[in-house]
Amino acid sequence: MTDGKCFLCGDTYSSRGMSRHIGACSKKNLERDKKGKTFHLKVGVGGYWIHLAVKDDTKLTDLDDFLRELWLECCGHLSAFTIKKETYSLDQMETMWEKSMDVELDGLVDEGDIFRHEYDFGNTTELTLKVVSVWEGRTKEKISLLARTLDPEIPCACGKKATLVCSWHVFDEEGWLCEDCVETHGCDEPALLPVVNSPRTGACGYVG
Ligand SMILES: [Zn+2]
Ligand SMILES: [Zn+2]
Ligand SMILES: [Zn+2]
Ligand SMILES: [Zn+2]
Repeated sequence: MTDGKCFLCGDTYSSRGMSRHIGACSKKNLERDKKGKTFHLKVGVGGYWIHLAVKDDTKLTDLDDFLRELWLECCGHLSAFTIKKETYSLDQMETMWEKSMDVELDGLVDEGDIFRHEYDFGNTTELTLKVVSVWEGRTKEKISLLARTLDPEIPCACGKKATLVCSWHVFDEEGWLCEDCVETHGCDEPALLPVVNSPRTGACGYVG
């Protein structure tokens, strides 16, 4: 598992250590009002994770925007949250099967709940979101990025650090390439994407 950095104090922790650390560090270093509450979320997939502080009146659409901006957006695909077996979609009319994302997080989730976000239903990136804890008092920002995994260190077959990934061979070891080995890999330019700090590295046209 990759280590991550806490942006409140600058220290580095393991995936497990960070959840505990954020609880303590946010008490000292994250300003909150006397009213309302804030959700401490851990969002992740594979070796990538982030910790967020999300104010109780934040809507699912805001959270969707934030995740797209930070990690996901390549070409405006559809997305949806799944919370307690209900699907919340973007720009969807309310139907029997799907609800709108235009709804506040408060009342939908509670401490310990785990829910899902999917982006792009063709080449899907599926994120797991966990409500690590619920804090008293609202943060100033709707959503604050508290911690994030360090840049991925994925080796090329030659041992050097990979800077490019071939979107056709992203699931093979040979798909991860350093600058020198790109020539010999053989796939065409459009398939080669930069290695970025996102679970969407190598998917669709994602360039960070
Ligand atoms: Zn910290
Ligand atoms: Zn795309
Ligand atoms: Zn190489
Ligand atoms: Zn390739």
